[in-house]
Amino acid sequence: MNIFLRRFISIIILFAFCVTPLYMFKRNTNKSDTPQSKILRSEQSLFDYDHRLLDSNEDNLPYINETIIKKGDTLRSILQRLKVRNLEKLQNFIAKNPETNSIRKLLPGRQIQAATDLNGNLIWLRYLHTPHYNNRDQTICKYLHIVSNKELSYSASEKTNYSERQIRVAFGVIKSSLFEATEHAGIPNFITMQMTNILSTKVDFPRDIRIGDQFRVIYELQMYDGLYLGSGKVLALEFKSNDRMHDAIWFDNDRKIEGGYYNFNGDSLKKTFLRSAIKFSRISSTFGKRVHPIRKTIVDHKGVDYVAPTGTPIYATAEGVVEFSGWQNGYGKVVILKHFNKYSTLYAHQSRIDPKIHKGKKVLQGQLIGYVGSTGWATGPHLHYELRINNKPVDPLSIKLPTSKKIDGSIQKNFDSKVEFYKEQMRFLEKLQSESIKISYSK
Ligand SMILES: [Zn+2]
Repeated sequence: MNIFLRRFISIIILFAFCVTPLYMFKRNTNKSDTPQSKILRSEQSLFDYDHRLLDSNEDNLPYINETIIKKGDTLRSILQRLKVRNLEKLQNFIAKNPETNSIRKLLPGRQIQAATDLNGNLIWLRYLHTPHYNNRDQTICKYLHIVSNKELSYSASEKTNYSERQIRVAFGVIKSSLFEATEHAGIPNFITMQMTNILSTKVDFPRDIRIGDQFRVIYELQMYDGLYLGSGKVLALEFKSNDRMHDAIWFDNDRKIEGGYYNFNGDSLKKTFLRSAIKFSRISSTFGKRVHPIRKTIVDHKGVDYVAPTGTPIYATAEGVVEFSGWQNGYGKVVILKHFNKYSTLYAHQSRIDPKIHKGKKVLQGQLIGYVGSTGWATGPHLHYELRINNKPVDPLSIKLPTSKKIDGSIQKNFDSKVEFYKEQMRFLEKLQSESIKISYSK
């Protein structure tokens, strides 16, 4: 704890000196769909840059851009975003060299970084295809490294490195959108997404967001030799929205329990049931009496129907164990999950059940279980979803779902001391934040 605290304070001090002035730095925000590539040199160099480089001659510093791969990206579109010139030569090299195999699979969400000289000539390129790979207690990252040598020819190799965890702090005030504010504060998008997920049971993003809402966040970054490799997880978060304060901390009791987010009072922030098993859909038939679409008689509809195209992924609405996976007459391809407290859920008419889903298998909340289809008695592709208590179907849309778990009494003390630690940091950050707001207003 002591080392952690000392490190933390040194980071805070760095932060106070380096980031606060950057925070007031005016920037244009690009509102287009394209993920922005970040020039690390100007925005993050004070933290992320190798200090030996900082000491060297400014003019010789490479320009490092990074971008996140999105769906539909091509190598060319990525290299253009990274502001690399002489694309044909590099593309040619990548196409012909077996060492560059990994870059042929462009995984959406992964990072690519490129260092160029002033003229856009590539110095090196790094494709972080495996950012976090847990090997016992250490995190390993794997990436493809392409370097150009003096004659402007390239060589490529796969690298494996231990990444080191660093802790960052940031705060912000919402002036237009949450993403604008977090970007302004230098917070990686991956961390912003976690922030919205963590508080998704409390705050309806973006509907509840108001101008002037504030946040403070403590999070991890994966670094190697002073270079930014990727984001880790949010450790603590405070979000003041609409004059209501929400807080969260990550707690795994030093890896002795499955980690999760709790508010400072020890209530789990995880919903016990997700509101819906598919992400985008509309409800075509609710629970209760209706005319059966095929038999044309009045029957009880034991679930809720969600219309969605064939192949739409279906997710487990709660943690549980697979009770049934296979074909049942009217239900077609169906999965039944058994949860805590005599709850079970049923997902019918699937086109395909995920091969990992078989009887007795443990399933996590939000885990993929299969895909929408129209097997069994179905007039068109939809998900028929049932929630049962003691095997008796109930209306999933109107029933009051069980409230979330609290921290177990036996580990309450450990939890409280962790909360105290983060609360102290948050109060310190709050002080810095109010000072930085004062300065920016007086300008
Ligand atoms: Zn149905």
